[in-house]
Amino acid sequence: MLEPESGEGAIAPLIEELLGRLGEDPKRDGLLRTPERVDKALHFLTSGYQMKVEDVLNGALYDVKYDEMVVVRDIEFFSLCEHHMLPFYGKMHVAYLPQKKVIGLSKIPRLVDMFARRLQIQERLTQEVAQTLMEAIEPLGVGVICEARHFCMMMRGVEKQHSGAMTSAMLGGFRDCKETRDEFLALVNHRNNGF
Ligand SMILES: [Zn+2]
Repeated sequence: MLEPESGEGAIAPLIEELLGRLGEDPKRDGLLRTPERVDKALHFLTSGYQMKVEDVLNGALYDVKYDEMVVVRDIEFFSLCEHHMLPFYGKMHVAYLPQKKVIGLSKIPRLVDMFARRLQIQERLTQEVAQTLMEAIEPLGVGVICEARHFCMMMRGVEKQHSGAMTSAMLGGFRDCKETRDEFLALVNHRNNGF
């Protein structure tokens, strides 16, 4: 992983200040190394800013004659909402219809991580994964469904009933063809199939 431009340690003094303003004593035993830890954690959780699509995909595109839907289901992700900098996490389901190329399957979760490790809103995260795949593989279509739970809703006691949110992005054939979309939804919803 690349070192962030701001450099590790740059955030620690701010966290020490923050602890004080929250009414804590940053000098007490349990908190002494907290600014350093938060610094490291935040740099990791936002490390997606230092990553580029080309590096993540790293040329893992293959020419094939395969024109059935490719689906990668239940990709776990953890992100931070840009409104509260609190976690939201969940699962993403990604599908595409190859045209000439397929991508190494392990690259899709890495792509999800790259966008999730930035300050996000769920809608944009979903769109970015879909758009990036559309540009990188030039498939006939891309479908992405994202289910997530938001700590900013769960912990602050607001709209608990909406703490689980679903978003989707349907591009190309996934938008234009109901059959394709239905096939994707059926594959995503088909639990207990031995996996
Ligand atoms: Zn939020």
